[in-house]
Amino acid sequence: PPAMQSPGALNGGGATPHVLFIPSAGIGHLTPVFRVIAGFSSQGIDVSVVTVLPTVSAAEAAYFDGLFTDYPRVRRVDMHLLPLDAAEFAATEDPFFLRWEALRRSVHQLGPIVAGAAPPVTAIITDITLTSCVVPIARELRVPCHVLFPTAATMLALNAHYPIYLDQLGAGPVGDVDVPGVFRVPRSSLPPALLDVNKLFTKQFVDNGREIARADGVLVNTFDYVEPAPLAALRGGKIVPGYPPVYTIGPLKPHAAATRAGDKAGTGDGVLDEWLGRQPARSVVYVAFGNRSAARLDQIREIGAGLEASGYPFLWVLKTTKVDREDAAEPADVLGGAFLERVRGRGLVTKGWVEQEALLKHPAVGMFLSHGGWNSALEASSAGVPVLVWPQLGDHRVNAMAAARAGIGAWAEDWGWDGEERLVTGEEIAEKVKEVMADEKLRASVAVAREEAARAVAEGGTSYRNMHEFIAKLKGA
Ligand code: UDP
Ligand code: UDP
Repeated sequence: PPAMQSPGALNGGGATPHVLFIPSAGIGHLTPVFRVIAGFSSQGIDVSVVTVLPTVSAAEAAYFDGLFTDYPRVRRVDMHLLPLDAAEFAATEDPFFLRWEALRRSVHQLGPIVAGAAPPVTAIITDITLTSCVVPIARELRVPCHVLFPTAATMLALNAHYPIYLDQLGAGPVGDVDVPGVFRVPRSSLPPALLDVNKLFTKQFVDNGREIARADGVLVNTFDYVEPAPLAALRGGKIVPGYPPVYTIGPLKPHAAATRAGDKAGTGDGVLDEWLGRQPARSVVYVAFGNRSAARLDQIREIGAGLEASGYPFLWVLKTTKVDREDAAEPADVLGGAFLERVRGRGLVTKGWVEQEALLKHPAVGMFLSHGGWNSALEASSAGVPVLVWPQLGDHRVNAMAAARAGIGAWAEDWGWDGEERLVTGEEIAEKVKEVMADEKLRASVAVAREEAARAVAEGGTSYRNMHEFIAKLKGA
């Protein structure tokens, strides 16, 4: 293929494409979208982004601000949400699921937005959570519609197969799910909401899983080396005959705004780098559970005890609530001053936003104790850092299975999770951390994955070629 050319060079003489992004909510969903937009910005593509404010979390708001500051040519298209009737939903319903539902119920506003856009919208890219609502609108307007799937291809395969599984199941209880050509996902590893077919999440999941077959293409932030089986199954029509083309385009590179997101940049880069610079190579245990997983207080204290007992230096991003705006607790309140005093110099605990992608590349980082968010798993694999996955909710166990299969991580299978929480003791955590730190076989396979990740996005690599093929398609070439 030709080398990356100047903006417009791949244009084939046609008009500049105008892509309308319709993102969903949650940093894990925005991250791949913004990274794709950043990539497009140097490719002569006009971009508009449907923006719903206020966002659920403060981190998302900062993320949007950063995007529009760094890419001033990206157009912001405001959309207003219809209010949800609170009585319709359980008070305990996940705030991000509720936002997805509110977005889904407001998408009829998109028809006029798309129809009235100047220059005309030539393609739509939306998030998996909005698929079943957006694809029909795009079809009616005859605008090609692509779905950006924000997590693992293994999860995409499960999403494609699950509606078929339920059809075959009839009225029986949900059991293990054999995804053709992929693997059997035990009932205990399914996103817990899926066990109840009446759950809001399950309804969305099933509708989206069916409708995605009518999209024009699916972009996935992964690379072929880490997930060959689900990709072959999807592309070969083994799960759904005639499934749209699947473009693996990861690991996506971070965009400029990502480095400043979050309104509580408590840990200045300087402090962090200075501390990391003093730690031996590959000695630091980095601990973070993404943007929407919060541990209970007693569990947080056990994590602290485990890190202390592991004997390794650690850097821990602490979250005590699902939504960051509600997170007022200080590390000292949660962990106690005595703990912080004991680990002073050896452990850093922060409530701020850290530049995770950059941090994982620091030579002092030895492993990553993670919840199993796919962005995190991929960032670790690109950095060659082994992950110990402690799944918390949703897709995390499926991602953990994918990570273990790919040789990029180990996972704690018996540590409980959403709905089946148990207190994992400090001793258990310390033991597992030490095991992963000493696992040379895992370290070697992660090193291979790092090479493969670099190869995938380098000129001529699988993700590079897919991205260029996709851009050429957008340009009508
Ligand atoms: N992230 C970050 N700094 C933080 C917290 C999160 O850079 O302090 C980024 C992280 O690098 C990743 C994303 O936020 O790109 C989290 O996505 P993931 O899919 O891992 O988990 P989620 O937050 O969706 O559960
Ligand atoms: N998902 C999907 N289809 C849908 C909605 C969600 O496949 O219609 C997947 C996707 O991988 C998403 C995950 O299910 O990331 C949601 O799991 P979780 O509860 O962890 O929420 P998230 O971390 O994405 O905010």
